[in-house]
Amino acid sequence: MVASLISPDNLDRNERIHLISRVGGPTLRRPVVLPSFAALNAAASTDSAVPVRWLTTAPVTPAGASPVRSLYVHVPFCAHKCEYCAFYSAPPSGDVVNRYVAAVVRELELVAPDCRPETVFFGGGTPSLLTLKQWETILRAMERLNLLGAAEWTVECNPATVSADKAKLLRDFGVNRISMGVQSLDEQLLERLGRIHTREQVFRSFDTLRAAGFDNVNVDLMFAIPGQTMAHWQRTLDEALALGSEHLSSYEVIYEEDTPLFAQLKAGEFDVDEDLACDLYDALIDRSAAAGFRQYEIANFARDRRGNDQGSMTHDQESKAGELVLGNSSLDLPTFACRHNVGYWRGLDSYGLGPSASEYVRGLRAKNWSNTTLYCEQLEKGRRAKELAEALAPEARAGELAAFGLRMNRGWGFSEFTERTGFDLRSGWPAEMAELIRCGWAAETGDRFHLTRTGLRFADAAAERFLRPDSA
Ligand code: SF4
Repeated sequence: MVASLISPDNLDRNERIHLISRVGGPTLRRPVVLPSFAALNAAASTDSAVPVRWLTTAPVTPAGASPVRSLYVHVPFCAHKCEYCAFYSAPPSGDVVNRYVAAVVRELELVAPDCRPETVFFGGGTPSLLTLKQWETILRAMERLNLLGAAEWTVECNPATVSADKAKLLRDFGVNRISMGVQSLDEQLLERLGRIHTREQVFRSFDTLRAAGFDNVNVDLMFAIPGQTMAHWQRTLDEALALGSEHLSSYEVIYEEDTPLFAQLKAGEFDVDEDLACDLYDALIDRSAAAGFRQYEIANFARDRRGNDQGSMTHDQESKAGELVLGNSSLDLPTFACRHNVGYWRGLDSYGLGPSASEYVRGLRAKNWSNTTLYCEQLEKGRRAKELAEALAPEARAGELAAFGLRMNRGWGFSEFTERTGFDLRSGWPAEMAELIRCGWAAETGDRFHLTRTGLRFADAAAERFLRPDSA
């Protein structure tokens, strides 16, 4: 499918908007699932021959290396499965959540000696579904293991499962960023998506989070929902922007196989209006900019500073904190950009814990089993629950990083790319760069290469060109 989209001239509007969704889908809130993983997944059986056994033991920081600075934890439970969702999550039943909590604590113990997280992200699933007691078990374990104190620590919340007690507990332990899955502020569309929350709960939860001291909140929205009109979208956008959050993520609905929404589409219950989807994306970019957000990635927008009367840090201090996390002052990120996700797009190492979580550490990419029972069984035996692992050849990894970095408005600074990968973008991919510039999808500005506004729409097709076969 992707190969046929490589030529810009081959792209019609229909294909373009799908490219937006493919590269801007909710997977970006969590470790990115890379193309070769899909191949590995397809090839793997339950008793995979992929040699991952040694990765299941406690990792050790190699001599001269630094511990890993990024940590992702997947919480695989949702009260109800949304119509469009293909992520690994299931309704909690029996004692499975307590068993999961014990297993994830065990996995934290295993990676802790090699992890000093500067960014932490609890995604799902619905992390806010965990009870106070379950959260406390995890947070106390992190305290004991010296894993607290991240500069940015995000927890995803569903507006229906936010409580003042939970918000306070998270804040007390150092969680300082909440990502709230709002998706829409239209009751009918929320129902259409199978969401469990109401619009009223969004406003109430937002106030609860603010009252608990969260001054960095992301609002997740979806567009091109079946039945959504431009008027719906503008209303939701206006109301969401008026909330005053620091960050906005917005994704087009993706029709993933094995989801109810996909089945309904296939059955002809509704049609996809691709032109409207493009217009909704344009409205998103324009309205969020008018409200003071700066787009820094295909689907991500952030404020550059807090409102006049909020927060105690100056803009310079905040920016510096971000630079410290990424070790790079030239990225020119908005103040409230999600550092954790930026880390993925710039190729930083990150541990991934919990069922189905992916990680990339010192050249090795690995993924946990997407099966909570299997995950728990492995951890109860004292080993990490790795399903797959692979090492990429340096050029293949560089190609992937080129592709990921182009998702960001900033693109790649030539020297940064060389520092990260050891390859020169200009000499390694001259034809690809020239072609994208020729068709107006990309530009070379000073010492960096980046997609244009038009190119951001086709980012996946643009990025595909930079991938190299893995001959490792
Ligand atoms: S809450 Fe999120 S993870 Fe859970 S089913 Fe809905 S979209 Fe999927």
